[in-house]
Amino acid sequence: MGGSFVYGRLALGAREVQAIVQKALTEGRRSLLEPEAKAICIEYGIPTPSFKVATSAASAAAFAGEVGYPVVLKIVSPDIVHKTEVGGVMVGLSSGAGVESAYLRILESVGSHRPDARILGVLVQKMAPESTEVIVGSVNDPQFGHTILFGLGGVFVEILKDVCFRIAPLEEHDAREMIREIKGYPILGGYRGFPPADQDAIVNILLSASRLVTENPQIEQMDLNPTIVYDRGAMVVDARMLLSG
Ligand code: ADP
Ligand code: MG
Repeated sequence: MGGSFVYGRLALGAREVQAIVQKALTEGRRSLLEPEAKAICIEYGIPTPSFKVATSAASAAAFAGEVGYPVVLKIVSPDIVHKTEVGGVMVGLSSGAGVESAYLRILESVGSHRPDARILGVLVQKMAPESTEVIVGSVNDPQFGHTILFGLGGVFVEILKDVCFRIAPLEEHDAREMIREIKGYPILGGYRGFPPADQDAIVNILLSASRLVTENPQIEQMDLNPTIVYDRGAMVVDARMLLSG
């Protein structure tokens, strides 16, 4: 892959990302929708399973056939940040009928938890198989500016706070150092029957995340959590991005 190709692709990425960011700000939104955040990931070469946004049970089932079973369905609403809490996520759906009834159940559940929420649709995404989970994120530190975070997913980040930080932009050696720096590093060597994690895939996501927030500084905070890592490759399955005004 030649340098000019990489540069051209990044430049294009930044334009597409700015269109999404400006649209959200124009609509008075500081929090991007999950499909917007994932579209931004794709522009920067951060992998996520194929997805589409459906606005009817029938189209959800049709989209599931296109992205490939099994799928997960998730509510898309500017008013809902934590989708699971309101019954807005259903995983492991493996048939058109299952998708249609899950679609209706999600709307019903979200409607009863949050009757005022604006519902824009339901994300239909191919399920990423289980494997080791990590988190890649960024915060905008008042003193240091955009800072990239890395850690293992679940209890490691939530309870043990086993994460490390580097100020953006990252160089490749920074990304490699971050991965080795967390206490849970040995888990990436393979654990609970999961294969050794593809560290190059994590490095690529860390570097892409760094470029993303450096080239698009309005992204004040980013959370690619979980990012699932395989023996070859890695995929972001939930993405949150908050904008500065
Ligand atoms: P929430 O807003 O509740 O954080 P998520 O998008 O994180 O919603 O979905 C909840 C959980 O469902 C995730 O933490 C993950 O375990 C699972 N999940 C979501 N999307 C996928 C996917 N595409 N493939 C596999 N698992 C997924
Ligand atoms: Mg989540």
